[in-house]
Amino acid sequence: MQTLLITEPDSEGISRAGEILRAGGLVVFPTETVYGLGASAIDEGAAAKIFAAKGRPADNPLIVHLAEPADAERYAVVCPLFFKLAERFMPGPLTVILPRREVIPVTVTAGLDTVALRVPSHPVAHALIVAAGVPVAAPSANISGRPSPTTPRHAIENMYGRADCIIAAGDCDYGVESTVVKIEGEGVVLLRPGAVTPEMLAEVCPVKLSETLNRPVGESVAPESPGMKYRHYAPDVPMYILDGSDETVYEFLRDKDDCAVICFDGDRELLAREHAFSLGDRADSASHAHRLFAILNDINAQAHDGKIKAVYARMTPAGGVGLAVFNRLIKAAGYNVIKLD
Ligand code: AMP
Ligand code: MG
Repeated sequence: MQTLLITEPDSEGISRAGEILRAGGLVVFPTETVYGLGASAIDEGAAAKIFAAKGRPADNPLIVHLAEPADAERYAVVCPLFFKLAERFMPGPLTVILPRREVIPVTVTAGLDTVALRVPSHPVAHALIVAAGVPVAAPSANISGRPSPTTPRHAIENMYGRADCIIAAGDCDYGVESTVVKIEGEGVVLLRPGAVTPEMLAEVCPVKLSETLNRPVGESVAPESPGMKYRHYAPDVPMYILDGSDETVYEFLRDKDDCAVICFDGDRELLAREHAFSLGDRADSASHAHRLFAILNDINAQAHDGKIKAVYARMTPAGGVGLAVFNRLIKAAGYNVIKLD
């Protein structure tokens, strides 16, 4: 497939990309969370192309992106709590699951009677949705199972030749996918942690954490968010999280050559190694979120070159957006944690 590459999205480029979406094509675009792979959410055939391009399992539903919270009424059955959440967090990195209206095909919702809605704040994403004139179904723009792209280079590496158009413009601010919540009664259940933290949500309504958060979901269990049951974000070599003090971690890694290490700015002994990547200051979860997927994508490229046989990551702190970082890290590591102390 020929891919139109737009690196400086002016109004002409955005209206061209909008036309492609309206006509049923696939467009990769930047958002404030990660790069998305978009298609018209009211065109069954277009949505089906997303699953083919990503190799995404058909039972994993897509998030529908809107220009304004008010548009939600056309595609879902809304409630007062939705608008309370929208007032506080939209546009921004929050996805809300609501009962679906007929106009959204079941291809998009993977057969569910609910639909996930989000209003991105990224100016290019917003302008693109307006230009398209249709709601835009968009999962992360990675091949299924791989880390989500958060840089133009990684978006191109994943989707060149698979999408009709790629708008490759700038790094994503947050770097982890949106927070996903389901409205239940007067409160919400957190299905996927993101930059909108449980603490922030609790300022608006009661919050419950999904029981499957940060735990492997067995094949027999029907998870509340179908995406939870799949192997995710994983590099193509084994990955482990090291739970230990500086000393025990350094000692453990001393005789491990040919492996990548994910650590913090202060880990000078580790950063002297050949394949070491820093998430930033140990206490800076926003930096960890911003860098994690870019690091995992770079490690993957080195793994493909045969330079790396395994990945070891230091345990990240879990407060605030750290919950989302740890959630992605432990999934990338296939829940393999090595306790050293
Ligand atoms: P991504 O593919 O990275 O955009 O992730 C979308 C996430 O939202 C996946 O984990 C999906 O399973 C989840 N999701 C989307 N729609 C729904 C829905 N209707 N109900 C529950 N989870 C959903
Ligand atoms: Mg994804």
